[in-house]
Amino acid sequence: MSKYDLVLAGGRVIDPETQLDAVRNVGIIGHTIAAVSEETLEGSVSIDVGGLVVAPGFIDPHSHSNQYLPTMRAMVLDGITTALDLEAGGSPGTAGYDKAEREGRPINFGFAANWAEIRCRVLGGVGGDGTIGGLSKLMANATPRQLGLATEQETKQITEMISDEIDGGALGIGILLGYLPDAGHDEYYDITALAAEKDVVTFTHSRTSFNVIEPKAAYEGAAEIVAAAAGTGAHVHYCHINSTSSRAIGRVLDLVSGARERGVRITTEAYPWGAASTVIGAAYLAPETLPQKLIKSTDIEYIRTGERVATNERLEELRAQDPGGPCIIHFLDESNSDDLELIRKALLFPGGSLCTDGLPYQVGAEFLEGVGNWPVPEEATCHPRTVGTYAKLLGQCVRNWGWMSLSDAIGRGSLAPAQILEESVPAMRKKGRVSVGADADIIVFDPETVDCRATYKNPRKTSVGFRHVIVNGEFVLRDSELILDAMPGRAIRRTTLTTSTFGSEPSHA
Ligand SMILES: [Zn+2]
Repeated sequence: MSKYDLVLAGGRVIDPETQLDAVRNVGIIGHTIAAVSEETLEGSVSIDVGGLVVAPGFIDPHSHSNQYLPTMRAMVLDGITTALDLEAGGSPGTAGYDKAEREGRPINFGFAANWAEIRCRVLGGVGGDGTIGGLSKLMANATPRQLGLATEQETKQITEMISDEIDGGALGIGILLGYLPDAGHDEYYDITALAAEKDVVTFTHSRTSFNVIEPKAAYEGAAEIVAAAAGTGAHVHYCHINSTSSRAIGRVLDLVSGARERGVRITTEAYPWGAASTVIGAAYLAPETLPQKLIKSTDIEYIRTGERVATNERLEELRAQDPGGPCIIHFLDESNSDDLELIRKALLFPGGSLCTDGLPYQVGAEFLEGVGNWPVPEEATCHPRTVGTYAKLLGQCVRNWGWMSLSDAIGRGSLAPAQILEESVPAMRKKGRVSVGADADIIVFDPETVDCRATYKNPRKTSVGFRHVIVNGEFVLRDSELILDAMPGRAIRRTTLTTSTFGSEPSHA
């Protein structure tokens, strides 16, 4: 009788938590890692992974694509085993979770409560459906932006609704402040105070999105986040600090690191791209705000047609005609070494996580759904970050540019995001590790060939170099082939209780 269900034999095991980087055999029983050993292990299935790296699967803390199956296939090919939408979230109620559990998911998933959606419901009577498709339409609509300040009664209602969602399992509070920048500072502070009271993390897209020139520039957006964390004691997570800080990244990182040294609880994330992506009707793309961001309309690419927006008049036209249309914003030039240095700075910030901030593949006006939609059709588009960020980190940032060690890169993609959540979400203590008792979410890749192939012109080219991807002990990619009917992804909820075999139970679970 074999002792293990699955053995990965003779790979170079990198565990960012224990700093293990050595040849080991990994034994898996059910959905759990049961052995990491120098000794030969006997398994019902044993796979030779000699010459390959065995590491914890990547955890994307900022994915908007975990409701869209075709995109998730491409994400598996990029080494992602858990995709969490923490910036936007899955409100109303448990809608995000309900859809995922109904349809099945190849990778693990989870959602925060969605402040923006709840605010729109309370003040404007319009809501989303728990998907990024529904939310995009809402955020592209000008009406929610004109709702103005919340009254005391409305703020109370918003905090109560968020509170209910946290009690229902939401992983924290997603705050898309940059999409509703006219919401009150008091309201933002009150939501952060709620997070402190509930002992959950907030995830903020800063109020000053991309602004570089003062007033209302990146420093002010950062200062608001830092001040709310300092004042309330909440753990705040600073979403895509690279993009919302843009060319002001130096100042923002100074502020955040200084505050952290003085005990303020702030974590950060960044992605290795010089372009962002959103809906063209977003508040922060109003033509009159572009000079403040040091970008022009021609830096904006309308994804549906690939058109570079020639003038501000054309931008106004597109915003009016198709506010929910996706666009790419080239805020830095990746071929310019000074701009590349800004990306490097954000990526290498101590303790920072990697993220994609990826929106799903889109065809026409809709995000691509459907089990059978693989490979994705020729006309499917998205920002390449959705499907190539982790391979880009390993191939370009580690192997080609030597920006960081392999172990550091793996840690930023797996352990760091697990640690953002693990105080408030016990289930995350078992993620981001290759150690006994951890969930068997494992990637096996070739460090010499792993690479991102997705480009702004062709985001349908998926990453290469990942040999096996295992989620909860089950293959979703085996011998570089996707297993299309494998749906081992599980919901991660704040209330998920772990067994006592790993870590300790928090008193507030
Ligand atoms: Zn954002």
